[in-house]
Amino acid sequence: MTLSNTLDLHADPDFINEIKTIRRDIHQHPETAFEETRTSDIVARELEKVGIEVSRGLARTGVIGTLRGKLPGDRVIGLRADMDALFIHEANEFSHKSVHEGKMHACGHDGHTSMLLGAARQLAKNPDFAGTIHFIFQPAEESEGGARVMIEEGLFEQFPCDAIYGMHNMPGIEVGHFAICPGPMMAAGDTWEITFVGTGGHGAMPHNATDPTMAAGSFISSVSTILGRNVPTYDAAVISIGHIAAGDYNSPNIIPARVLVRGTARSYKPNVRDLLEKRLQEIAEYSAAVHNCQAEFNFIRRYPPLVNWEEQTAIAAKAAAKTVGAECVDSETNPIGGSEDFSFMLEKVPGAYILTGNGVGEDRPFVHNASYDFNDEALPVGIAYWINLVKTELGG
Ligand SMILES: [Zn+2]
Ligand SMILES: [Zn+2]
Repeated sequence: MTLSNTLDLHADPDFINEIKTIRRDIHQHPETAFEETRTSDIVARELEKVGIEVSRGLARTGVIGTLRGKLPGDRVIGLRADMDALFIHEANEFSHKSVHEGKMHACGHDGHTSMLLGAARQLAKNPDFAGTIHFIFQPAEESEGGARVMIEEGLFEQFPCDAIYGMHNMPGIEVGHFAICPGPMMAAGDTWEITFVGTGGHGAMPHNATDPTMAAGSFISSVSTILGRNVPTYDAAVISIGHIAAGDYNSPNIIPARVLVRGTARSYKPNVRDLLEKRLQEIAEYSAAVHNCQAEFNFIRRYPPLVNWEEQTAIAAKAAAKTVGAECVDSETNPIGGSEDFSFMLEKVPGAYILTGNGVGEDRPFVHNASYDFNDEALPVGIAYWINLVKTELGG
């Protein structure tokens, strides 16, 4: 990896060390959805320190920093980082290990926040670009949809953006490499649940009962046909069952009256998402009907698919190539099955989301692993990417 000559952040080790210190401090003090008060204090303090205008309170702990370039220009872009941690007991033993029992920065949002702060500091020092940047620090990415809440509370009315960009680290990709693709890049992540309802009854006299376990069994054995027989072969989707509950461990001789089956549905296109919902409901209801039972069906739409806009994807790939060389940028990467609430922002504003390498090998476990840590080596890469993205987007 060679960082762009015009932007050799390694030339300023003090700066990178300061950002590393901030990253480790945030890692040590993880905060979960909408409770990122200490983290947002750090973000606001760091932005104000370099004269960036700060607005706080969107989605409770959200922070927006606004910086105008010194060259004339009306274009406005948003750069977004997430700040929240996960409910995971950290297995690491290093000195910046979480001090908040049961909470951990296992997705690298400590790194995302620090990289955007680093870029903000550099850009405030040299605002040689034409237009305006909103640095968007959002809470609650992991499961509560902080991006959606920020939008509902007026993010893009108060801070209109012509384009918006996001970045996530990715273990399994070398530091100094980027990956992106136009179109759907991450899946819609939805939850569904079905309760099969019968009368239940004595296990010895099933002819006197209607048995929802039979209905659930029919459903479970048919559900994979949605993928094999309904979703077109050129589309991808996943349906997995994650939870089944019925009866009582101490009562194996009683037919339960209710069987709960819950799972996840992943898809990359709105029409496939609709199809999964429709077929899950149909198969649930027909399976129930065959056994004289009822099915209560609930499909909870959580995060939409993350769909990168073509023009902004090209801009992001170009900025990444400027940062690390075109040979280190995979601009046609395969979509991944995870979900991400930046998708809500991309539904409103053209933009793109890029993956940056967090390193490969056994000592670089995947995100959401109790032994995960953001790789500090990736800090200057991400900072340089943000700066190159601003130069690509807003000139200068
Ligand atoms: Zn995560
Ligand atoms: Zn994440």
